[in-house]
Amino acid sequence: MSLEFTHETLGQRVLFGSGKAGQHLAEEIRTMGASKVMLIASEAESAIAESVARDVDVALTYSDVAPHVPAEKAEKARSAAAEHGIDLLVSVGGGSTTGLAKAVALTSGLPIIAVPTTYAGSEATNVWGLTEGARKTTGIDSRVLPATVIYDADLTLSLPVELSVASGLNGLAHCVDSMWAPRADPINAALGAEGIRALNRGLPLIKQDPTGHEGREMALYGAYLSAVAFASAGSGLHHKICHVLGGTWNMPHAETHATVLPYVLAFNAPQAPEAAARIAGAFGSDDANDGLRQLREALDAPRALQDFGFKAEYIPEAVQIILAAVPESNPRKCTPENLTTLLTAALQGDNPKILSD
Ligand code: NAD
Repeated sequence: MSLEFTHETLGQRVLFGSGKAGQHLAEEIRTMGASKVMLIASEAESAIAESVARDVDVALTYSDVAPHVPAEKAEKARSAAAEHGIDLLVSVGGGSTTGLAKAVALTSGLPIIAVPTTYAGSEATNVWGLTEGARKTTGIDSRVLPATVIYDADLTLSLPVELSVASGLNGLAHCVDSMWAPRADPINAALGAEGIRALNRGLPLIKQDPTGHEGREMALYGAYLSAVAFASAGSGLHHKICHVLGGTWNMPHAETHATVLPYVLAFNAPQAPEAAARIAGAFGSDDANDGLRQLREALDAPRALQDFGFKAEYIPEAVQIILAAVPESNPRKCTPENLTTLLTAALQGDNPKILSD
């Protein structure tokens, strides 16, 4: 990797501590001097949100959250914030909840304190997403970057193991894809490698002991690093593929990332030896693909896109849309033929090795 690069570090306060989210949130709001707090959490996340905000004077509790931030829900939330004279957004939940807070911040400029409860990582990026009909639009805007992120592993103890695995592999995908994304540089590669190391350690511990603290803390730490690497490096081939599948066929976010990752790694690794060596080292393995395979086996990770509603007849259209979006930085040239092979293997859950040949 050349040592000539431009790297942008996003400014955020990160407060990390198990059992400390309530205290950290109250202190942070006091420091910011906010008095009209909008607490955003889905119905399913409301109990966690109430416990975190127990010492906060909440002006508006808002729960109309849906996956991929439908534009009409964003509009409703923006109107509610304006009607209540809100001066601070607090999101407590997964990427969908953080996404709604970002949609409000995008047009209002209101600051966000994000309290994540999954490993999606949206809290550490300046990327927003909105869905209109079947079309998902994403963009970059500094207004949507949460001012403060509060990590508390206790809040993730209730995340079911299956969802923890998929969400954690979504984080791992940010790390791996950062190695060859358009703005890949040595700084985000270092963050991504440390993210892989943390997730590779944390996720198996969660599988073995879902209520243990060590695995949950390592996974949150890894999720944060993964998101910082992703925000800095941009979307690589993996994210382009998952974005197309999620946006066009409404595939579940975390599970799609978890399933597609080994195929993109096997596809790109032979053409990106430096990145592959770095990924292998982070896994503590001699080979990047073997490292990921071993982790996925330990986690009993999602294997085939057909298990999540993807169908063979979607592949030609998917290939067309992906081809138009593949970043120039991708180490392997994409063609209709090799992308069809990749998607067919991912659809069926074939051994990713066939893509390295
Ligand atoms: P999600 O937010 O939809 O949450 C998945 C499910 O887990 C929901 O039913 C939620 O209620 C539940 N849940 C969340 N925390 C829980 C907990 N602690 N215990 C029990 N249940 C819990 O899914 P996600 O994977 O966190 O986020 C996916 C969304 O985030 C997608 O829309 C994706 O595009 C977006 N995202 C955006 C960025 C970005 O940088 N903008 C990055 C990553 C993901």
